[in-house]
Amino acid sequence: MKLQDILTMHFRLAEPQRAALARLGIATVEDLLYHFPFRHEQGGNEVSIAGLIPGTSVSIVGTLEKLETRRSWKRKIPVSEGALKDSTGKIKCMWFNQPYIAKMYLTGTLVKATGKVAGTGTKMYLANPELERVSASDIGLFKTQGGTSLASREESSLKQKPVEESDLIYQDTSGSARDNKLFAQYQESRGVTSLWFRHAIEKVLTSGVLARVEDPLPQEILKRYNLPTLVTALVWVHAPRAALDAEAARKRFAFEEVFYIQLARGREKMRAARGQSFAIKPPKKDIAAFVDSFPFTATIAQKRAIDAVLEDLGSGHAMSRLLEGDVGSGKTAVAATAAFAAVATWPAGQTFGTLQVAYMAPTEILAKQHFESFIQYFTHHPINIGLITGSGCYKFPSKAARGKATTISRAQLLKWVAGGEISVVIGTHALIQKSVQFKHLALVIIDEQHRFGTNQRRALARKDARLPHLLSMTATPIPRTLALTLYGDLDLTLLDEMPPGRKTIITEVVAPGERGKAYEKMRAELATGRQAYIVCPRIDEPDPQKAFALQAKSVKEEAKRLKKEVFLEYSIEVLHSKMKPKEKDAVMKKFLAHEIDILVATSVVEVGVNVPNATMIMVEGAERFGLSQLHQLRGRVVRSNHQAYCFVCPETRGEKTLARLKALTTAKNGFELAEMDLLQRGPGTLAGREQWGISDVGMEALKNLKLVEAARFEALALIQKDEPLARHPLLAEALHRRTQTMHFE
Ligand code: ADP
Ligand code: MG
Repeated sequence: MKLQDILTMHFRLAEPQRAALARLGIATVEDLLYHFPFRHEQGGNEVSIAGLIPGTSVSIVGTLEKLETRRSWKRKIPVSEGALKDSTGKIKCMWFNQPYIAKMYLTGTLVKATGKVAGTGTKMYLANPELERVSASDIGLFKTQGGTSLASREESSLKQKPVEESDLIYQDTSGSARDNKLFAQYQESRGVTSLWFRHAIEKVLTSGVLARVEDPLPQEILKRYNLPTLVTALVWVHAPRAALDAEAARKRFAFEEVFYIQLARGREKMRAARGQSFAIKPPKKDIAAFVDSFPFTATIAQKRAIDAVLEDLGSGHAMSRLLEGDVGSGKTAVAATAAFAAVATWPAGQTFGTLQVAYMAPTEILAKQHFESFIQYFTHHPINIGLITGSGCYKFPSKAARGKATTISRAQLLKWVAGGEISVVIGTHALIQKSVQFKHLALVIIDEQHRFGTNQRRALARKDARLPHLLSMTATPIPRTLALTLYGDLDLTLLDEMPPGRKTIITEVVAPGERGKAYEKMRAELATGRQAYIVCPRIDEPDPQKAFALQAKSVKEEAKRLKKEVFLEYSIEVLHSKMKPKEKDAVMKKFLAHEIDILVATSVVEVGVNVPNATMIMVEGAERFGLSQLHQLRGRVVRSNHQAYCFVCPETRGEKTLARLKALTTAKNGFELAEMDLLQRGPGTLAGREQWGISDVGMEALKNLKLVEAARFEALALIQKDEPLARHPLLAEALHRRTQTMHFE
């Protein structure tokens, strides 16, 4: 067996298993080894139903009977019920809020149920037990045979003895001496069970394949932090002899992941800093005049950010800066000033023309808004601005109508961009296509941080041209550990001050059943001519197949209901991600023109749309969102000097839910809320995680600032000494493989 072998070379897989493994992205033996369990369970503590004691936690092996789902009449939540039977008796099982349980298990299924014994006497039941299918032959696994302990205990998890890999190869196949063994629990997927993984991985661990595994992490680093070697960690993560072993293994993988990311980012930073770039040093008074031409006075934070950016631009080396600031903090003005500096600069060796700026936005709606705001910012300093989107191209100013933009063909626009006549080009991802060639691209501005590295920058510039400067902007509040990891290659500037005159947004957590009052407040504001967003967690009605699985309000149904029952006199429309760009655009235009009063939307509105007259936002199913995501959503309504309102409506009445949401009314800023999300709900729930390309284990690391800092320190120290990783070939290879699969936008 080899790590790169396709699983089917060693396992006979039925079609459903194949499909499930494909779904989980598991193709090779190595993939299987990196499918980590989500927890371990003590084996050998199964009990019989006859002797159950209320209040204890137990595991029982038995068959399921008569599973069905109903709704509890009081709390209206779905309850699945059934019975578990073994040779000594029968006990009722109840699952709250897990209606799919009844569909997943047929009567007669042999399972191991693990959970707490609730109730008393004859009314005992298992509350929310975890089920795992077992086959009759597995039952033996759980029998306590009281034999000798296999593990020599000196292999304490955090102390590393000299490594003799052969010692560490997993040998426990006997099935005896399983006393106190920990059993890995794997995420099940339709087609493969946790048990299948356990057996399959056991087969891999005992195959001898680990003997050929080499550890890319330098020994001295492992020693410094008492981390197990790769082979040990692979064994321990799946088949630990003690809980501490599993923990040490996970810690190693977490460290490793952050370490790799830091290596990649550190190199990136080094390369960018080394790369020659355009020296952009316009006279100070020109910059001052530009800033003075804003229709407002720049905040101190904006001025500070502008200074930092100008210093970078003038340095001769490529800027790599991230500008982070809450929605409405005025990032565009900073971007415009940076762009101004570039277009006020002649290309080298010329006494005419301008350097060029590319400004990328995540959506067409936003690209158009930036186009329009740039036209405003440059009113007194006219330049040519282009807009490239999938659905059309524009140029400002128009030859025919001064002060207006005009549509032009893509081909024509590209020609002007390539010729250097268009100074600022704004667009979506379409901007980084090969067909878009710049003449003197000196600055790339990216709104809403997407990973964008030296290579992408180089690809954007002309061959042999210098590396353009990079200004990245984001309103996504993220915790410090995450910022250190994800943005390790960027210098950070915070816009931590809101423009003056903004009233703080009045946020109310509306308990279920009290919506009426919130609607009244909204009606009063609508009557004064304001507009509102109502955000729902879903687009369509829940899939009827999934019965009660998701009861979240849907955009379409909620819009219908509001039209019919609540806001009869106002115009209501919907906006969601399944609509075509053109449709979305049309709706946004109408909303901006106040032809729509209420926009019922999914969280697509999260990505900055600027409608100053919209001063209310109501979020349905609020508990489904992270605090930082809710914070961003409400950022939609702080665009003007009117008092803004945010109504946060959870579906459930739980004390905990309400308390968590209350933080929205007390936290000082988005960063504080992001930290809370991380600690309370775990890193998996942070908004935007899909685009980060960090595994679950890596995400666990983000709760641990010390670990992140250690990994960062080691990675930077290593590349200081050996940037090409010439003396660490295994590491270079591992990193290469990782960066190939990492998500780049
Ligand atoms: P964001 O940081 O969310 O991108 P924008 O740049 O879109 O914020 O600015 C939000 C609004 O605030 C815009 O209407 C802009 O004109 C206005 N604005 C920006 N800076 C200031 C300021 N210093 N004083 C007053 N209004 C400002
Ligand atoms: Mg913005």
